[in-house]
Amino acid sequence: MNRGEHDMKNYKIAVVAGDGIGPEVIGEARKVLDITAAKYGFSFNWNEFPYGAGHYLATGEVMPETALADMETCDAILLGAIGDPRVKPGILERGILLKLRMYFDQYVNLRPARSLPRVHTPVPLANGEIIDSVVVRENTEDLYMGIGDVTETGELDMPINVQRKTYTLKGKLSIHSDPSCHFAAQAAINSRPGVERITRYACDLAQKRGEDTVTVVSKSNAVPALYGFFEETAKNVICGEYPELKYEMVNVDALCYHLVRDPSAYGVLLCPNLFGDIISDLQAGLAGGMGTAAGGNIGDGISLFEPVHGSAPDIAGTGKANPIAAILSGALLLQHLGETKAAEAIDKAVSDFLGQASMEDLPFEFGGHATFEQVGDKISGKI
Ligand code: ATP
Repeated sequence: MNRGEHDMKNYKIAVVAGDGIGPEVIGEARKVLDITAAKYGFSFNWNEFPYGAGHYLATGEVMPETALADMETCDAILLGAIGDPRVKPGILERGILLKLRMYFDQYVNLRPARSLPRVHTPVPLANGEIIDSVVVRENTEDLYMGIGDVTETGELDMPINVQRKTYTLKGKLSIHSDPSCHFAAQAAINSRPGVERITRYACDLAQKRGEDTVTVVSKSNAVPALYGFFEETAKNVICGEYPELKYEMVNVDALCYHLVRDPSAYGVLLCPNLFGDIISDLQAGLAGGMGTAAGGNIGDGISLFEPVHGSAPDIAGTGKANPIAAILSGALLLQHLGETKAAEAIDKAVSDFLGQASMEDLPFEFGGHATFEQVGDKISGKI
């Protein structure tokens, strides 16, 4: 962090606005963050990076290594959305999003789900109940390590070379069948350092939220090695290092069942990578939709904050994008920087806006007619 002219804190933030509605919603997030910063006595130095489908289609470049070094000099990254139907799936995801996640070892994917005023929840909540849960998803292991392939010869020999800060995995995924048997294989790995650090993050978060339970999402009955290990390792950390917290385990299938019957039933949900991916979308849907779902990819180095939604090419350029998910991602960024009061002010401004706006002033997603800019202005006005 740099010190500004009057010893005012100045945060250097890398911005990857990206594609489709990305630049639209990030513009509003920046607007709200700048106004909040001015009120709470700090400022932002925004460093814009052009990467995304637009840049790739125009130049052939996905994201150079030099960008990573430049971003490393920043306090955090704010990202809009990456993607375009004209680019083959996988190129930008691997070349930008996964690259950033792995390079900066962002081992936590944080996805809060909260009830907001006037935001319709598809499952009615019991009187007075609200949704206020958070998925803490392990972000670097499980089925997402890229160790897998498809074979049309019955022979699969895939070298494994995974270099992480805490461990190295070297070897080969080697499976042989008869030549007519086409098959696919993907290896999933959960390591002790990987599970321990995500569990500690979940426990610290539960304590910050004033809760007494961490719920571990598992499937050890059907996949005992991979998820039994995750469960046991998490349990040892929770019970051994956080005696004031309660350990609870739920199998992922049962969790889905319970969540749709009572979306308010859980607080901190600690998930292996795959289950976290799925459960956080379920929670976002139950809490009211993509337009309000914020997310963070957090590590010990540079962390990245982004709305959960994608580039939504169907509404890009129409004004209909809801910027609230990006604005709430900005609040998560502030929490991460330790600007807790400012972060809470943004959360409150969003709730106040939604609670008090006329029907006309709500985003299109919620039945109103306000453009992303008008919503951003109204929320800024509430800070
Ligand atoms: P990706 O495939 O990268 O996830 P996507 O935009 O096609 O991108 P989603 O983000 O899941 O997929 O969005 C699905 C649909 O939800 C969009 O096409 C759009 O209609 C709607 N949507 C998403 N985000 C918003 C938003 N911020 N405001 C309004 N509608 C949105």
